[in-house]
Amino acid sequence: MHDSHIIHETHHVDPPASAAPHIQPRAGLEHRELRRDEFWRTIPAWAQVSAAEFGNHQWQQRHTITNARQLRETLGTLVPETFYADLEAGIAHAPMALRISPYLLALADWNAPLTDPIRTQFLPLRSQQEPDHPMLRFDSLNEREDSPVPGLTHRYPDKALFLPQPSCPVYCRFCTRSYAVGNDTEVVEKMKLSAGAARWDAAFAYIESQPQLEDIVISGGDTYNLKAEHIEQIGRRLLAMPNIRRIRYATKGLCVLPQKILTDSAWLDALTRVVELGRKLHKDVVVHSHFNHPNEITGFTEDALGRMTERGIVVRCQTVLQRGVNDTADVMTLLVRRLGYINVHPYYVYVHDMVPGVEDLRTPLHVAQNLERHVRGATAGFNTPAFVLDAPGGGGKRDVHTPDFYNRQTGVSAFTAPSVKAGKKFHFFDPISSLDDETRWRWSQPSHRRAMIDEAI
Ligand SMILES: *Cc1c(COP(=O)(O)O)cnc(C)c1O
Ligand code: SF4
Repeated sequence: MHDSHIIHETHHVDPPASAAPHIQPRAGLEHRELRRDEFWRTIPAWAQVSAAEFGNHQWQQRHTITNARQLRETLGTLVPETFYADLEAGIAHAPMALRISPYLLALADWNAPLTDPIRTQFLPLRSQQEPDHPMLRFDSLNEREDSPVPGLTHRYPDKALFLPQPSCPVYCRFCTRSYAVGNDTEVVEKMKLSAGAARWDAAFAYIESQPQLEDIVISGGDTYNLKAEHIEQIGRRLLAMPNIRRIRYATKGLCVLPQKILTDSAWLDALTRVVELGRKLHKDVVVHSHFNHPNEITGFTEDALGRMTERGIVVRCQTVLQRGVNDTADVMTLLVRRLGYINVHPYYVYVHDMVPGVEDLRTPLHVAQNLERHVRGATAGFNTPAFVLDAPGGGGKRDVHTPDFYNRQTGVSAFTAPSVKAGKKFHFFDPISSLDDETRWRWSQPSHRRAMIDEAI
């Protein structure tokens, strides 16, 4: 509060009782320092954009950047010509189409575009791309194999993933659904998932017919891109089913475009009505968001989450662990504490999946294990995420500390999942570039490759 701040500065106040000797009273408060400056004005194209315009979700949507030409028109000489050439070559080799909101683009540090964590997640650079791991397969999580109807993944007994439409307010390089999300790129022709009543009806009929299903994740694409009436229609339809006890709306939107929560009242009202209906029916309706770096959380996010908290909407966060983005203990701890501060509960940190074209973002398993050790204990237990690996081949999520086998030299690990696919082993492979020279050479030799995998079986 401003007033008490002034009092503190002008009056002598007795020092507060000191904290435990090993706790520094001012240390570790960085998570509360949220940007509220007009940071977008350093971007040449937006130097004259007012706070009201930048805070409006329609302005954000209209100025979303979807190709290298628009990026060049926006950033101009802020980055050197070599950067644009690197980006254009990167896009030509990338599985995901380009899409980034003005908000996120303006939050990147364009004085350090090669290492900035926001640039790294959304704009591919050819100079940083690495060859895919030889054991990588497309749709590594086997989501299509576990789909009883198109756009519905039913892998676990009591929960399923519903994908109502394929678009997102942003396209993340690391997306595990790059087989379905986004426009076709030069590298990948997508499976087409239409947003349509007929396909939705088939999914609803299946969900209703499975008495063991209790929990539906409405994912994407991204629920931010569903119209207000569709948010409500899907929510009401699912809540009306006696077997369904829990639904979650998954959205990257809170990270990409928090402005929508503040200026699209029709959308937030529709979501609020579903949450309220859930409460009346004693069912659980929550939002799952997706933040990966502390720089993605600003005053806009704090205001948006404040609005949601007032309406009693619970928000959790799933994070994707990425090399050069959030793979240090300092960054991950700051992210977790900052999320807790704005009332977002960190739920999962996912080890980066084995998906094509983004090998440069993957980390070895041991990085995740080590980060978990550092993060646990830094804040409340209920705000401490579980570090998990979604086992390739359909094993589902496994705690990173529980491989049955892990050879850190070859980077091969093996997991079992008795309640998902009993008796089966699931293998994960650390990125080749994280291994020593001799082991890298062994991965290039098919016979050695076989031996390294056999050791884990
Ligand atoms: C992650 C996931 C879920 C939800 O799992 P939780 O661990 O409950 O968050 C459901 N279905 C599929 C296919 C998933 O990948
Ligand atoms: S918002 Fe989610 S579904 Fe969409 S591209 Fe990003 S990770 Fe994929």
